[in-house]
Amino acid sequence: MSADDRDVPRPHPQPRAAVRGLPLYAPDIAASTVDVSENVNLWGSPPASLRALAAAPAERVNRYPSLHSTPLHDAVLDYLGLSATSGVGLVTGCGSDDVLDAAIRAFGEPGDEVAFAAPTFVMIPIFTRLNGLVPAVVPMGPSYEVDPQQLVDRRAKITYLCTPNNPTSTAMSRQAVEYVVEHAAGLVVLDEAYAEFAPDVFTSLVTRSDRLLVTRTFSKAFGLAGLRVGYGVGSSAIVDAVMRARGPYKVNALAEAAAVAALSDGPGALGWVTEHATLAVTIRERLASALRELGFEPAPSAGNFLFVPTSRAPAIARGMRERGVLVRALSGLPHDVPAVRAAEGHALRIGVGPWASMELLLDALREVLACA
Ligand SMILES: *Cc1c(COP(=O)(O)O)cnc(C)c1O
Repeated sequence: MSADDRDVPRPHPQPRAAVRGLPLYAPDIAASTVDVSENVNLWGSPPASLRALAAAPAERVNRYPSLHSTPLHDAVLDYLGLSATSGVGLVTGCGSDDVLDAAIRAFGEPGDEVAFAAPTFVMIPIFTRLNGLVPAVVPMGPSYEVDPQQLVDRRAKITYLCTPNNPTSTAMSRQAVEYVVEHAAGLVVLDEAYAEFAPDVFTSLVTRSDRLLVTRTFSKAFGLAGLRVGYGVGSSAIVDAVMRARGPYKVNALAEAAAVAALSDGPGALGWVTEHATLAVTIRERLASALRELGFEPAPSAGNFLFVPTSRAPAIARGMRERGVLVRALSGLPHDVPAVRAAEGHALRIGVGPWASMELLLDALREVLACA
């Protein structure tokens, strides 16, 4: 080091502006008896996946996982009924978050727009900004509808659809999804994280469109959120670009083994998943009517959770947490939907699980309402 260097000021390294402006993802985590604040599988994980984890060849983890996770690719395409279709590819990732992030990076230049109806999955504006792109927000209609014309009119480089949508739990109509896929100017990303609970799924549109990427996950119905496995399907050209932007080895060997096991037709595998998804839908409706009896107005849900606009959401969530029950309180939501405007942009998001835990949740809620 020369004497001159010593006098040069050395400011602290500064993160990029897009990074400085972002909040850390930090949901409210507290000790609880019932935690329905995340939309995961509250019954647990498929027994077949747990067996696969226990039997996994741990002595091989000094090696990298398989580069192309062929068994997982084959099993997923088979599950989606796409195995025989030529021209369709699959990209896996560390959760579908990873695939969404890579897709935005793969198709958007810095400064390009990502169009979506708000409110939607919280990570979308974050991945948009982190990749140097700009959110182009379109309002929802009075009953949480997504207006396909408004989305298409943005002529964005990337259009993001989420159905069933997190956090509103509402589904898009087939007509609206198809309109966007047929008329969007750029890439269409369709997030089907909750497909297993939904009355209608749109995955097979990938066989008809070369601008569509459909993403799904093992984190919700498949009960493997802790292992972080997600995937996207689309034309091979789209998938190839996403794969380049994502980088190699994003699905670890143990996660891959557990995901493959969940898709098998053996005991405690896919049958377990569909059985619990059906149960979640039944309990969701039962919970929704119990909430309506208490005077709430949950949005019509197509997922494994309920979206309940109420101006008292922050106070209710706090009171329930004191009683050992964690629900998600959302604030600052756009006011386009009248029910959300009436709630001053506040809502509760409540995950659906075994009825016994829903009863504990309702007990805590009744207590909180009685105190207010
Ligand atoms: C939970 C969720 C995801 C992704 O989860 P991963 O765990 O990263 O697969 C993606 N989209 C929506 C809408 C979600 O709610």
